[in-house]
Amino acid sequence: MKTKYICEKCGAEYDTAESANKCEAVHGEIIEAHVMPGAVYEQSRITPNAVCVKFRNKDGFEAAAEYKFVKYKDKDFEAVKRESEE
Ligand SMILES: [Zn+2]
Repeated sequence: MKTKYICEKCGAEYDTAESANKCEAVHGEIIEAHVMPGAVYEQSRITPNAVCVKFRNKDGFEAAAEYKFVKYKDKDFEAVKRESEE
């Protein structure tokens, strides 16, 4: 049996722990998330249409992105995680 090391963020498989750790280090963690006030909110809706998110990876690189509304999900993130693993 061959041991595989898996990046816990993207799921890529590697032959060495070092390679998997390098892959994980590239992916960022959320350090800020903002909803810019204004038109992103429609009347009478709880969720905005866009959220701006800033990420930082283990090497200290930062990147920001704007995420657009796609669909409603279960409020229970554990349920969402289980669903995405299926
Ligand atoms: Zn990865």
